[in-house]
Amino acid sequence: MLNNTQTYSDMWQNCLDRIKAETSEEEFARWFRPIVPIAFDGTTLRLRVPNASYVYQIEKNYIPFLRPIISQYYGSQTKLHYAVPRSETPAAGETTTTHPTAVPSFTAQSNTANLPKNPFVIPGLRRISIDPQLNPNYTFANFIEGECNRLARSAAMSVAVTPGDNPFNPLYIYGNSGLGKTHIAQSVGHEVRLRHPELQVLYVSMNKFQAQFQTAYKNGEIPDFIHFYQMIDVLIIDDIQELTGKTGTQNAFFNIFNHLQLTGKQLILTSDKPPVELKDIEQRLLTRFKWGLSARLDLPDYETKVKIIRAKSQKLGAELTDEVVQYLADNISANVREIEGALSSLAANASFLGRRITPALAKEVLKAYVQIDRSEITIDRIIEVVCSYLGLEFERFNSAERTREIAQARQIAMYLAKQHTKAPLTAIGAAIGGRNHATVLHSCKAVSNLIETDKSFRHQVEEIERQVLAL
Ligand code: ADP
Ligand code: MG
Repeated sequence: MLNNTQTYSDMWQNCLDRIKAETSEEEFARWFRPIVPIAFDGTTLRLRVPNASYVYQIEKNYIPFLRPIISQYYGSQTKLHYAVPRSETPAAGETTTTHPTAVPSFTAQSNTANLPKNPFVIPGLRRISIDPQLNPNYTFANFIEGECNRLARSAAMSVAVTPGDNPFNPLYIYGNSGLGKTHIAQSVGHEVRLRHPELQVLYVSMNKFQAQFQTAYKNGEIPDFIHFYQMIDVLIIDDIQELTGKTGTQNAFFNIFNHLQLTGKQLILTSDKPPVELKDIEQRLLTRFKWGLSARLDLPDYETKVKIIRAKSQKLGAELTDEVVQYLADNISANVREIEGALSSLAANASFLGRRITPALAKEVLKAYVQIDRSEITIDRIIEVVCSYLGLEFERFNSAERTREIAQARQIAMYLAKQHTKAPLTAIGAAIGGRNHATVLHSCKAVSNLIETDKSFRHQVEEIERQVLAL
């Protein structure tokens, strides 16, 4: 409480001591140390701040934090007025212009009638309207949900409903190229803009972020760069694996990341790798990436493929018979981007050449557009690749031997057969060690689990898979 033997400057020092104890060093140095108390008349505390952005930051982010501290030393009725130098030339520090900015949250009796409607009195500051840089096609409405993306999509949707106020912060979406990372991340942006039009959304690729950082660095504008990003409420950074190794950017990114998390803003990150596999990224960043939720996007399963093919062909105005849809779904095992490529080409062939879309035309087009023709992959072929990759004799693979080595080889073969052939589980079991379908299911699960947890095992399976597909 107010102590008459103390000057308002002493009291400010007390406030600063408490603020310092409760903020990070960086935050304290940036936002609080530069504030100078210039007057206190018993109800109004006038603070000189270096520039307009302080008013914005304090009002927007720190009022709930500051209120009890200021109340303790200056009294609970205290209002704040900010003084901002007219210009930032050194001499101007003396001739300050006050911007009477009351802090309504401090006291119920603030005289709001005399204040501008918007408490952020610096003209233009609050109004900066940032182009969110979103592709209009990448919406939830255009995103087909399936087993392969369910977790990521659901988490993305709940982030869009309550950005910043959910357990998925950051939301980290990862998966191979062409599986919909950019699409899903941008869908969050669109949805937030619909549901929370007052929030600033920004999408930026890590490459662009780094280029901006370089430019800011050259021009001595790093504080502005950081400040700009700190004003965003929902920040989407695409392909963060590109951050690798660039210390300056990592520092800036860390500051921004920290600030946004601290102030309850939402971060959405995408990457082609899970956080554990990001090379050269500082540990303090990796740790933060793991705070939220990591959701993986997988290659589309058969059903999702069918849905995607139907939806996309409809958009292209190409009518596909069930037979063609099925043919395409059976034969494209590539990512969604390639499915789109194949469909566009099919549609173009049909419309320019006036050809009906038959399975034969589909086959012809697929040859050029899709690397993989699934129909060629047989269980025998998979067994052959597994054995040759692991250096096993087929006789041993096929024997009654139950060593770990052999058992694991069979599991991998079952897993790949389930992924890449249309053979039913019973047929897979019969062909690999004479097992029943429950054993096949169990094996597939075991392999999936191990892929999740054991990096070198995953690389092994991926390499075998690559060889299987590289027919
Ligand atoms: P990534 O960022 O993972 O490389 P993109 O988000 O760029 O992939 O997706 C590639 C293309 O596939 C885009 O045109 C996108 O709209 C489309 N796409 C991916 N997944 C889906 C999906 N589930 N539903 C609809 N379109 C999808
Ligand atoms: Mg992308």
